[in-house]
Amino acid sequence: MLPYQNLQEAEYALGRNLTITETLWFKYSATKSDYILYCHNTFFLFIFYTVLPLPYVFIELMRSKNIDDKFKIQHKIKNSVSDMLNCYKKVLVTFVFAVGPLQIFSFPVIQMIGIRTSLPLPSASEICFQLLAYVLLEDYANYWLHRLLHFKWGYDKIHRVHHEYTAPIGFAAPYAHWAEIIILGLASFIGPVIVPGHMVTFWLWMIVRQMEAVETHSGYDFPWSPLKYIPFYGGAVYHDYHHYVGEKSQSNFASVFTYCDTIYGTNKGYRWYQKEVYEKAREKLKQK
Ligand SMILES: [Zn+2]
Ligand SMILES: [Zn+2]
Repeated sequence: MLPYQNLQEAEYALGRNLTITETLWFKYSATKSDYILYCHNTFFLFIFYTVLPLPYVFIELMRSKNIDDKFKIQHKIKNSVSDMLNCYKKVLVTFVFAVGPLQIFSFPVIQMIGIRTSLPLPSASEICFQLLAYVLLEDYANYWLHRLLHFKWGYDKIHRVHHEYTAPIGFAAPYAHWAEIIILGLASFIGPVIVPGHMVTFWLWMIVRQMEAVETHSGYDFPWSPLKYIPFYGGAVYHDYHHYVGEKSQSNFASVFTYCDTIYGTNKGYRWYQKEVYEKAREKLKQK
């Protein structure tokens, strides 16, 4: 809740006029508690998880009429509406019983690390710097946690669920055992703990993380994707290979970038596969 009674008081405290976005933030958040503002995060996760995979669902359904097969990474796999809806429904159950409580009970941590809701709002450069830090820290933590989940006990008891999809789809991005949702969810908090920022930045971080997860599980490789220009970005083909190999996979553990796998030598098999199998198969499809 903001410590100002009205706009004038906020402007007096800041010593300047509020910007348009700060005025909007004041009007929206002035009477809401920090807890309620934090809980918005659960709502955003639900909305973005529901909406972001929809373009891929549409493309997948068009494929049943033999359109755009050349962009599907595992082009022999087709998913029906009921397949995708089934996945969505299972994720929503996990969402209610794992993500919801995780979000609610993690609020004391948010307070402790000092995620602020007050004015002024962060600048664009502050948001960009913090999001970059969050992505890098989450990627590094996720690499090791994911690699640990591939040891026999972790795989059999927890991670096997996420690998039920050997050809992932957008809706399968958070399809996992509840324990995995919590373990990998904790990796998302490392950035905000080390570099705490504004609540708006925290919301944006969770949305960016969701967008990245849906894209890497989309099952599609679009040559015009602007993400291909991000240095060391793994992307859909990279993570698809991890699912394709399945249980025995000891490759491509990182969630966003490729550098951890390269440094620790866990993408050699993928490099060979990409050059000798995947690229050649793409060329054949293009010629059809
Ligand atoms: Zn895995
Ligand atoms: Zn995955």
